[in-house]
Amino acid sequence: MARYTGPSCRLCRREGRKLFLKGDRCVSDKCALARRSGAPGHHEAAHKKTGEYGRQLREKQTARRYYGVLEKQFKKYYEMAENMPGITGENLLSILETRFDNVVYRMGMASSRKEARQLVLHAHFRLNGKKANVPSILLKPGDVVSLKEGDRDSVKIKELVERMQTAVVPSWLEVDKENVSAKVLSVPAREDIDFDFNEQLIVELYSK
Ligand code: SF4
Repeated sequence: MARYTGPSCRLCRREGRKLFLKGDRCVSDKCALARRSGAPGHHEAAHKKTGEYGRQLREKQTARRYYGVLEKQFKKYYEMAENMPGITGENLLSILETRFDNVVYRMGMASSRKEARQLVLHAHFRLNGKKANVPSILLKPGDVVSLKEGDRDSVKIKELVERMQTAVVPSWLEVDKENVSAKVLSVPAREDIDFDFNEQLIVELYSK
């Protein structure tokens, strides 16, 4: 299945929410959603007529797009969440948060999840000291992500290391700014996730 390669801002306009897909631009006044709201290609009034199924679907699409996950993989995460003890919706968000690419983003080494994904794909990071270049790997408490030795010399990576020095990191991650590494301390709890998902809508969608 092909990955979405169209304009990122279009996805935010479709969901009517900032999904933070373009890094620093998203928090600037250049953000397309701040300048032009409303679903692309639709009349705004028509888009507002969303029933229960529509709201559930939109919430699922929002989460999927926010984390940059394809439909099939998202469903797989949902099934995993369902089989875990605890609340399915919260489990789902914890799973999404612990993806390798999201951890790189959360540790401050990328301005967006898309950039983090590229960095992982290009093997700029080690997982527990070993080569790992699969963005969808799920990390667990105790796992350590570190920048590949020798990569600090590139201009781009230098910029990202600089960015990391001032990043606000969630409490479930312990970051070593000097050595450019991060350790997963615990499974992210719902309150650690700073986006106002209504994950119950996603559970209702898949429970039909
Ligand atoms: Fe979304 Fe705004 Fe970022 Fe574009 S700039 S991806 S509209 S948050």
